[in-house]
Amino acid sequence: MARVFNFNAGPAVLPEEVLAEAQAELLDFKGSGMSVLEHSHRGKEYEAVHQEAIDGIRRLMKVPEDYAVLFLQGGASMQFAMVPMNLLGPNQTADYVNSGAWASKAVKEAQTIGNVRVVANTAKDIPARLPKADAPAWTPGAAYAHITSNETIAGTQWKNFPRTPAPLVADMSSDILSRPVEVGQFGLIYAGAQKNLGPAGVALVIIRKDLAERAPEKLPVMLRYKTHIEENSLYNTPPCFAIYLIALVTRWIEKTGLEQLYRRNVEKAARLYAAIDGSGGFYRGTAAPEDRSDMNVTWRLPSEELEERFIKEASAEGMKGLKGHRSVGGVRASIYNACPLAAVEALVAFMKEFQRKSG
Ligand SMILES: *Cc1c(COP(=O)(O)O)cnc(C)c1O
Repeated sequence: MARVFNFNAGPAVLPEEVLAEAQAELLDFKGSGMSVLEHSHRGKEYEAVHQEAIDGIRRLMKVPEDYAVLFLQGGASMQFAMVPMNLLGPNQTADYVNSGAWASKAVKEAQTIGNVRVVANTAKDIPARLPKADAPAWTPGAAYAHITSNETIAGTQWKNFPRTPAPLVADMSSDILSRPVEVGQFGLIYAGAQKNLGPAGVALVIIRKDLAERAPEKLPVMLRYKTHIEENSLYNTPPCFAIYLIALVTRWIEKTGLEQLYRRNVEKAARLYAAIDGSGGFYRGTAAPEDRSDMNVTWRLPSEELEERFIKEASAEGMKGLKGHRSVGGVRASIYNACPLAAVEALVAFMKEFQRKSG
């Protein structure tokens, strides 16, 4: 069986070693005679897995003591609602940077809950770009400020996070654990797991615990961060198998080290951008060079016909998932942690050959 090179945006490639490990343990988890899918979430076997995933995140991200690490359901999209529901009081304002499709969704959802101020808007800019970190005029006394650390569709990524007077909230769905970040700089970080962390079905939330105290009395129990902090994400049945895979992924990252993984990610992205920039205009990057993402590389070809052929021929050569998001078209290579350098090398070679044939 041959594994292909998977450039899917999410759900996305997982480390082969992790999949093999999950497969090997599937029928009989640690001699228990049943799979991890079949264990009680209150039993000691699963509890160890649950804690390993939390501790793995804590170690890798050097999460300070006054922060909780939570595994919640409803994806990052649920966090678009939970953040304002818990953190935005009735007479307050939340600042949002609208940097693209995902930030726009976060803004829209927050507007259904409270008072939102869009402090900078680059969502429709061509080329895709981010506001300068020091440019937004933050609202004095805002409840929080929200950014999207990596715009998965546009292919832009904050390289330096803004210093905001209010607690900074970041949607890190598509670049969580791709690089070291200082958690203490944020009030809350959230990420759907299915891009860089594990499978779909679970979202990671890292929250400074005092912020969870803001939730209004009337908020349903399941929608309160406080509930999940107090119950260590075991208030209800958690997505056990997804969390188990996160535990394996954190173990896999620790083997390499986050710094080393980050250097590899930078190298992979640099090779692709070099291929784009060195193509004499045949390939055109769609993000402003200073804001280019190391996770999602986006570009166009001279025509939509060529783009279609590029994606089709790449697929025939075992490079899958290169179609740009349906809202923007073009080509997108998502090159998350688990995407090997060999995949990028193969893609770069293919790009050169394709240009030679069609340029
Ligand atoms: C994929 C993605 C989301 C949505 O995640 P779901 O888990 O599908 O809700 C939100 N934000 C960003 C930046 C994403 O890449």
